[in-house]
Amino acid sequence: MRRLMLAIAATALAGTSAPADEPAKPVKVLIITGDNVSVHDWKATTAALSDVLSARGLADVHVTATPAKDLTDENLARYDVLVLNYFNTKKPEASPDTTWTDANKKAFLKAIHDDGKGLVVIHLASGSFTKPNWVEFEKAVGGWRSRGFHGPAHDFTVKKTSAKHPISEGAPAEFAHATDELYQNSLLPPDSVVLATAYSDPSKPKGTGKDEAIIWTSTYGKGRVFENVMGHDVATINDPGFRTWTRRGVVWAATGKVPADVK
Ligand SMILES: [Zn+2]
Repeated sequence: MRRLMLAIAATALAGTSAPADEPAKPVKVLIITGDNVSVHDWKATTAALSDVLSARGLADVHVTATPAKDLTDENLARYDVLVLNYFNTKKPEASPDTTWTDANKKAFLKAIHDDGKGLVVIHLASGSFTKPNWVEFEKAVGGWRSRGFHGPAHDFTVKKTSAKHPISEGAPAEFAHATDELYQNSLLPPDSVVLATAYSDPSKPKGTGKDEAIIWTSTYGKGRVFENVMGHDVATINDPGFRTWTRRGVVWAATGKVPADVK
């Protein structure tokens, strides 16, 4: 009997061995990609992003490089959060599988606005759909719209703002980021909360002399939105600071909470 009791106790302990604040299960992520902008190696950056999010069982990551087929109500319902590592092609007629139809756009907005899926936007993705401007996308995302710009890629320091937010709580106060493009003059949705900035050195080409918004959150209907303008190439995505902020941002967009031990 005593042996049985010990066995039951051991089983109970095994069931609670994970830290209490760890995600109960991996968040379900869909990375949306498939752009063909030559200076951005979307295949390599998507693989790097997938590795960052999959590490230590944080997320169950699926990828679509054919959004025209996969942005449907039925498919998007399978995920907790959509990660956009996409830029729309300038030649849609040559790329029917990557060009979003009106039905794709409607399904994407509905998933976030009405169904409460999270949205995470990486780097150039916020500059998609600007010509012509897709107004609802701009409301959801803000960011690298027609007025944003950057100078040559360079090293810069990313600093946490004083905003209280679950993503920030476990993120580094500042970090020296890998050589990346510093996006400037980004458009922020009205309810944005800027979580991290980088100073744009005016002695550098196109430097503004301002603390530029680098990471922010907003909401679109029921959906939580996390925007990270960094991530030009694989080296920037593998930067430890980028990894921690992005992993925390993805979990927050998916669930509204971030366990302290997500790094
Ligand atoms: Zn870039």
